[in-house]
Amino acid sequence: MIFPFVNRRYPRVVFSVDYIYGLPSVGDHQAFDVMKYKKIRDRLIQEKKLKRRHILRPELCAADDLRRVHSESYLHDIQDAAYLSKILRLDDVNPFYNSILEYLLAVTGGTLLATEFAIQNRTAVFNLGGGYHHAHPERAEGFCVINDVAIAIEKYRRTNGVNRFMIIDLDYHQGNGNLLYFKDDPEVFTFSIHADTWVEIEGQSNLDILVSSHCSDEEYLEILHRELDPVCHRFQPDMVFYIAGSDPYEKDTLADMKLSRAGLLQRNKYIYDRVCHRKLPLVVLAGGGYGPDSWQIYFDFLEYALTNRMR
Ligand SMILES: [Zn+2]
Repeated sequence: MIFPFVNRRYPRVVFSVDYIYGLPSVGDHQAFDVMKYKKIRDRLIQEKKLKRRHILRPELCAADDLRRVHSESYLHDIQDAAYLSKILRLDDVNPFYNSILEYLLAVTGGTLLATEFAIQNRTAVFNLGGGYHHAHPERAEGFCVINDVAIAIEKYRRTNGVNRFMIIDLDYHQGNGNLLYFKDDPEVFTFSIHADTWVEIEGQSNLDILVSSHCSDEEYLEILHRELDPVCHRFQPDMVFYIAGSDPYEKDTLADMKLSRAGLLQRNKYIYDRVCHRKLPLVVLAGGGYGPDSWQIYFDFLEYALTNRMR
């Protein structure tokens, strides 16, 4: 796809009406505010921080792209709404209700569009969703069905000289899906700080840091500053995916970390400024974040990025 008349200094935001379907507010997903991404988009437009022409609208992820990572039998299984509702632990879903899959395909299509745009324009693109870091090629895990970042890397590696990818994952939960998928891939480095470990691997292509869920803003930021720079220096990524999970927030209703709203903004600004300073393509994914106050964390980040152009 060719994007005409690009002003490279503005980050872009990916969103589509298909994101509004979300997941029905039943079962374990009650903690997930299904309208939060629309709320973020609407508020940014209302406050004149986001122009409609800077919103990119994705297509649903195509079957051929899903096959880059997921097995045929698994892709067959997820066509069934009843199967999806079981793995997402939803209470009751009409077996003919296909909007759950459409929602997941739209958000994955969003990550692909964000990646393509970021590579072509060496800019930052924020998807209002995505970062399904627990999903595996043959199975879903932790509410993650389709591994959007893995598909994006498989699709766009070798595009415009972009060969080395770093996934910076600061969600509360470890991104075990990405870690396992890329563990033997020398061109993809996964860096994660989390309070919840799912798998333990020590390799050349990953750094996993477990922190206490009681750590303060200062302790958390100190670890981030100390550990990230040497890795970036050694690995020299051509592109960064940042899974900016909001669930380390003290008001998160699912996780138990104690980071403040100001601390999380500091965290997000640090990553954004670092990557933009190096003029690397950056794709930001929302990752996890639960409860009625969760939307503010990703909103604050977008507000900062949209009002502080890339330098
Ligand atoms: Zn999470």
